[in-house]
Parts: sequence; C-alpha cells; structure tokens
Amino acid sequence: MPNRLVEKLRSFIPGNGKKKVRHYQRQEIPRDQHTVSRSMISEQARKVLHRLNKSGYEAYLVGGGVRDILLGGQPKDFDIATDATPEEVHELFRNSRLIGRRFRIVHVVFGREIIEVTTFRGNALDAREEVADDEHRTSEHGLLLRDNVYGNLEEDALRRDFTINALYYCIRNFSIIDYANGVQDLNNRQIRLIGDPETRYREDPVRMLRAIRFAAKLDFNIEPNTEAPIRKLAPLLTHIPSARLFDEVLKLFSAGHGEATYDLLREYNLLAPLFPETAQAIEAGESDELIRQALRNTDARIAQGKSVTPYFLFAAMLWPALQAEWHRRQDNGDPVQPALHGAIGKVIGRQVQATAIPKRFSGPMKEIWELQIRLPRRQGKRAFATLTHPRFRAAYDFLLVRESAGEIEPGLGQWWTDFQRADERVQEKMLSELGSTTAPRKRRRKRSPVKRPPQS
Ligand code: ATP
Ligand code: MG
Repeated sequence: MPNRLVEKLRSFIPGNGKKKVRHYQRQEIPRDQHTVSRSMISEQARKVLHRLNKSGYEAYLVGGGVRDILLGGQPKDFDIATDATPEEVHELFRNSRLIGRRFRIVHVVFGREIIEVTTFRGNALDAREEVADDEHRTSEHGLLLRDNVYGNLEEDALRRDFTINALYYCIRNFSIIDYANGVQDLNNRQIRLIGDPETRYREDPVRMLRAIRFAAKLDFNIEPNTEAPIRKLAPLLTHIPSARLFDEVLKLFSAGHGEATYDLLREYNLLAPLFPETAQAIEAGESDELIRQALRNTDARIAQGKSVTPYFLFAAMLWPALQAEWHRRQDNGDPVQPALHGAIGKVIGRQVQATAIPKRFSGPMKEIWELQIRLPRRQGKRAFATLTHPRFRAAYDFLLVRESAGEIEPGLGQWWTDFQRADERVQEKMLSELGSTTAPRKRRRKRSPVKRPPQS
C-alpha cells in the first residue's frame, strides 16, 4: 500500500471523512492488564489462529469474541481477522468453505462450530483510486455497494462498526490491540460508532439495528452522537435486501433480550421498516401486549438454554397487523373464517417485502394463526382433530400467550392443558361437559365501537 494512502488513513475517519475528524491512536494492552485468557477462547478458534500464525500470516481474534470475554460473558461465536486472502485461508484448512460474493469470507467448520475468518478490509472509499473499477462505490443514499478492498490491520479496525467491536486479541503475545478507544467505551458501557455516524449509517443502515441489538444485549448506552441520526435515518433500512433484514430480525430477537430490543426499536423508529404493518396497526391503537408477552416468554426460554422458533416469533410480531386486517374485513361484512384467510394472505404478502420469510416458516405461521379459530371449537371430534394437527403445540403455546396478554378470557388454555394430559375417558367427559355453546366469548374490544360477529 502506498505511503500516501496510509497517511491519509491515519488522519481520516472511515466513511467520507469530510465531517468531524477524530484521531485514533493504536494502543496495545499487555496480557497482565486485561482479562482475556486463552482458556476462554474455543479450542477450534485457537487452532485456526495458531495455524494461520505458523503459516506466516497475521491473525487475530476480533469482534464479539473479544468484547464478550472482556465483559465477563460467553461469546456466541468467534471471528478471526487475518492478512491471508480468503483463497489462502481456504487452502490452509481442508474443513473450510468460501462464502459470499461481494466480500469473500471463509468458514472453517468443526462440526457444529463455525469459525468465521475474514481478510483485513481496507477503506473502500479512500482506496477507490487503487482499484480498476469505474462503478460508483456508494448509492445515492450513501449505501456502500461494494466493500471488497483488502487492507491492513489498522484499516480493518476502522472499517468495523462500533469501537467495542474493533478490539483484536493476539495469540502470539496475548495482547489486545485497540485502535478506536474500544476498551474505554467498554468500561464506560457505551455503544459508539467509529467515524462519522451519519456516514456510517448511510453506508450500511443495518448498523442502526446492530446498535440497538448490542445496547439491549449488553445493557449499554448508545453514545449521543451515535444515537442522534438514527430516528431520521431509520427509513434507509427499506433499501436493504429483505433476506438480510429477515436474518437481522432473528438476531435481534434471539439474543435473550427481545423485549428490551423491541422497546428500543420502537423508541428509534426502527420497528416500521422491519414490520411496517405492525407498526401501523399499533399506531392506530391495536394492542402490542401479545408481542411483549411473546418476547418475554422467548427471553425466558433463551435464559433456560432453549431455542426460539422463527415462525412463532414472526406469528407474534405480525399479530397486531393480522388483527387489524382481520377485523377490518369482518367490519366490511366478511365472515370470520374467510376474513382470517384473506387477512393472513395480505399480511404475509406485505411483510415479505420488508423481511423475506422463507416458506418453511411462513407455512407454520399461517397454521398457528388458523388454529386460533379452531382451538375454541372443540365439540364432537373437533378437539381430537385439532390435537393431532402437526402445528397443535405451537398454536396452543400461542393461545397461552394470547391469554396472558389479556386478549381472551382465561380458561381455554387451561382446558387444552388438561385435555392433552387426560386419558381417553376423561377426555370424553370433558367434551360432554362442553355442551353446545362453550366457546369463550371474545372480550369486547375497547378501541372500536363497531359490533363484530363472534369469533368462534
Ligand atoms: P455477535 O456475534 O455476538 O452477534 P459480533 O460483534 O461478533 O456480535 P458479528 O455479526 O459476528 O458481530 O460480526 C463480527 C464483527 O464484524 C463485528 O464485531 C464487527 O467488528 C464487524 N461487523 C459486523 N457487521 C458489520 C457491519 N455491518 N459494519 C461494520 N462492521 C461490521
Ligand atoms: Mg460474532
């Protein structure tokens, strides 16, 4: 790399560097002044680091792996940054695969553990002159279209999103390298973007979601300059491919702090680009209590080491939108069931424009919703048919969430709880006790004066 460029990068912040210029200085924290030790790093990650080093490459642990250990937590996964090219890394590890087209990264696969290895990224904008390519590097909104220039360690650090994510652990001398005062921000519990926040959000609006995700997960504050542009720039997320947003939504709600994340999303106008119909329905007075209740349950499940099902999460997140559309159709005279079917199609159809929903998830989501009108109808053989439905369990869980959200009269959930556990004789008795008009009446909705047909 020419000296001229290195000089430029020393004084420039990432992005266009036109606004506030902040000087960052490399700091090296020796092993006896930090808490990261080899034993906290997965054996596989250590193996990858050692092999890269032995083969003559620079390689560091970076990102959540360093951050979470410094915070006394358990990293979700380990990311490694190196000066070896993706092809060189791939060559070194038989158990690796090259992924990504725009910026290739390498996954080194050890059974269920995947170590992500990325080649140092350069400052795409400053390096523009270096590459023989005349395409525009940013879109009209400042979105970074290509981020595929390799760089050195310092450039790599300054291309990362937050200061606390730009800490590198060196397994050769056990030091931590900090280019952006990340340790200081970690101690002060601050989420701070590296460089000019607006530029960095425009380059990649997903960074706004990441700010919220880390703030909720780590219980950190978002530093004022990092926080300031979010509300205004939130709509930029609509330019992000829907498949990427789907992945981000899962990350947002699978970290065990879903309810806190939800509150922050609303606070920063970020719910609307992710769930436009839901945001609109809530704005118009629809309750979001079911979402909160579902996220509370999800958080509790994650705390117990259980998994989260994406279709359950999406069924909950879209429930206010579905309710609004379903009721609108009933108010227009559609009977309950066709109104529900129509509403389901419409809500999912619109949602996939914001966040793609793979078919393997949208199918079960629909079933959970459809079963909500079957669960109250138990007479005759209906209860048995519902019980054997492949999506019964999820729909029953959903019913319980609705009940605890105060959306329906208590009782039906307990009935199903008992019915599942009972033997055949007791089940028959439970059914015979139902009589003919048993479905619990839906509570009158406070919001709307319109009288609706009963839902069951
Ligand atoms: P976790 O894995 O716990 O969710 P993480 O910080 O490791 O958190 P990853 O998504 O695994 O997050 O990314 C690894 C690192 O890559 C980040 O720490 C950050 O340095 C960098 N990074 C990820 N996404 C971006 C982005 N959109 N812009 C800039 N840097 C990013
Ligand atoms: Mg990570």
